[in-house]
Order: sequence, then C-alpha cells, then structure tokens
Amino acid sequence: MILAGVVGVVLGALITYVWRFSERRQHEVPPEPAPLVPPGAESVLSVLSSSAVLVDTSDTVVKASAPAYALGIVHHDTLGPPELMELVRQVRRDGQVREADLTIQPARGSTQHVRARVAPLTSRLVLVLAEDRTKSERVEAIRRDFVANVSHELKTPIGALNLLAEAVGEAKDDPEAVVRFSSRMHVESERLTRLVQQIIDLSRLQNDVLSDDATTIKVDELVAEACEHSATDAEAKHIAVAVDVQPDLQVHGDRAQLHAAVSNLVENAVTYSPDGAKVAVTAELRDEDVRLTVSDNGIGIPSAELERIFERFYRVDPARARATGGTGLGLSIVKHVAASNGGSVEVWSEPGLGSSFTLVLPSYSVDDDRADIAEETA
Ligand code: ADP
Repeated sequence: MILAGVVGVVLGALITYVWRFSERRQHEVPPEPAPLVPPGAESVLSVLSSSAVLVDTSDTVVKASAPAYALGIVHHDTLGPPELMELVRQVRRDGQVREADLTIQPARGSTQHVRARVAPLTSRLVLVLAEDRTKSERVEAIRRDFVANVSHELKTPIGALNLLAEAVGEAKDDPEAVVRFSSRMHVESERLTRLVQQIIDLSRLQNDVLSDDATTIKVDELVAEACEHSATDAEAKHIAVAVDVQPDLQVHGDRAQLHAAVSNLVENAVTYSPDGAKVAVTAELRDEDVRLTVSDNGIGIPSAELERIFERFYRVDPARARATGGTGLGLSIVKHVAASNGGSVEVWSEPGLGSSFTLVLPSYSVDDDRADIAEETA
C-alpha cells in the first residue's frame, strides 16, 4: 500500500516535470542553423599571404582567397589539381592533417611547385593552405649549383698549388727550377685570389637591389681607371686601347661595382684579342642613357654561345680559359652590376671579327646633382 503511494507520487512528479519542460520548449525560438563558414574565418583567410581554400562535403569550394585564384588551384567552384582534391577527401575521411608537395601544370603558364597543407576546419569544411614554392625552389637549385661550381673551381688552383709546393721541395738543389715553380705558384695564387674576390663580388650582387653606396661618377674617370687596370696586359700584347668619351657624362651608382664591371669588359677585350689587336672604349649620351661600349677586333663569340656567356662560370672555350686565367664570372658580374645600377648590358659579336659589349646606364646630369645638393641642404 505504502509502496503504491510512493510510486504514485514519483510518477506524478515526473509527469509534471515532462509537461512543464515540453511547455517551455514550445515557447523557445528554434535555434538558427550554424553558419557553414565559422565566424571570423573569412577575415582570417583574407589576410593570409598564402592561398587558402575552404571545401565543403560535396567537394565544392565555398571560399577561396585571392592568391588561391592567382595560383590557379581554384577553377570556378572546384579545386583544380586532382591530387589536391584527393587529399581533401582523405582528410575528410579520417580528420588527419596532411601535407604534400605538388607539381601543378596550369592551363596557361609554366609548371608550378606548390606545398599544400590540408586540415579539417569544421565537421563540414576542409581547409586547404597552399604555398607557391616555384621561385624558392628555383633559387635553391641555383644556390646548390653555385656552391657545387665554386667548390669545383677552387679545387683547380688549390690542387695546382699543392703540386707546385711539392715540386719546390723536391727541386731544392736546382735553383732555376725553384724560381720557375715559384713563379707558377704566384700565378695560381693570383688566380685563386681573383676567383675568391669575384665570388664575393657576385654574392653581394645576386639580389640586383639598388646599392646604398650610390655616388655621382664621372664616366671619363671610370673609363680611365678601367683602362689603367688592363694597361700592363694590353702593353704586353701590343694592343692599343683607344678611348673616346663624350665630355661631362655622369652616372649615379656604386663606384666599386661599376669599376669592376667596366674593368671586366676591358680585360676581356684584351684577353680575347690577338697580339697587335685594337680595343676601343667609347661613351655617349643617347635618350637619357649613357652608353659605354667596349669593342675589340678579337676572336669573337659564336652566336649560339651569346645567350650563355653571362651565366656564372660559363666559358666558350674552357681549355683556353684555363690558359688565360679566366674564371667565367666576369660577365656575370657585369650583368648583375648593370641591373643593380638601374641599367642593362648589350652584346654584339661575330667570330673572327670581334665583339662589342655596351653597358647602358641612366645618365645623371649636372642638374640632377644640383637638385640633390639643394634637397640635402634644405
Ligand atoms: P672569363 O673569366 O672566362 O673571361 P667572363 O664571364 O668574363 O669569364 O666571359 C665568359 C666567356 O665569354 C669567356 O670565357 C669567353 O669565352 C667569352 N668572352 C667574353 N668576352 C669576350 C670577348 N671580348 N671576346 C671573345 N670572347 C669573349
């Protein structure tokens, strides 16, 4: 009897609770469906420098940042590269973050290397972050190549010095041989010094950024210094260096860099010309540019090689370069100096007739100079 009473009370309380709860629920506003893209996600995606894409459960792109379109991984409302789409599906299946390096061949343009990171964002969305690695991979490949070349180039003079040092030791009773070997050691150590200096020059120039050490440079002085640099070699080969520089020409740039560039051009003209050849250095103003030309009537360069001579360590005739002490870095330095000083370099050459290299640099007039001084003193 007592038990029946207790059960009745408990049941009554339960019914009252359920009735009240359901009444309360009837008065509540039904909750709005959660937005597909979480609040704040859009503004985060818009400030990301890498490409960001949100893909829903039907493989549709619901949001993509501008870099994602620029990179070409989104076409209309789908992900372009099938490998990327497959990655999204895998992530959706098991919720694991994935990373992959992909090579993308866009409809237009060249192959691109992309590093993608794919992660679940919500139960309905997968986030794809993609970074264009094309440029950095190219730079890395160039760097690897450069280091390999440098090591190879350094080995030659170091190896020669090693052998010569041994030879001097063995020839201690032959003073003539000692003198001969020591002069060859001198040549090799000079080659080494030149190579190291050029490698340093080049590594400073690689970024083609405008130099901080820009000053006003008189072109006639620049030419005179470059000719002086090769005077001994020219004299030894009976090569006359004729100079014709328009008066009052000025450029604005890094003196040491421009000196290295013009000296390299004059040095090459002397090196790659036979005894008694003629070298001419001219400079004139044309369309606001100073055109500084170094011409020779030397061996010339085959047209097929003209594209490659500005590459680092490239020589048309490696055997001859060994004899002349060439490093294959001179013209590469000239090209980077031109770019770092707002100019360019042009070449004309014909085998057997000669070569002509023109450094084109923006002219800097005396008026520009006055304006600069006025600005500084204001
Ligand atoms: P190198 O130290 O070998 O002279 P450069 O970079 O200055 O290196 O030149 C690259 C190559 O271009 C040279 O090895 C040479 O074959 C060719 N070259 C450069 N200047 C001349 C020139 N004035 N006449 C003929 N060949 C030249």
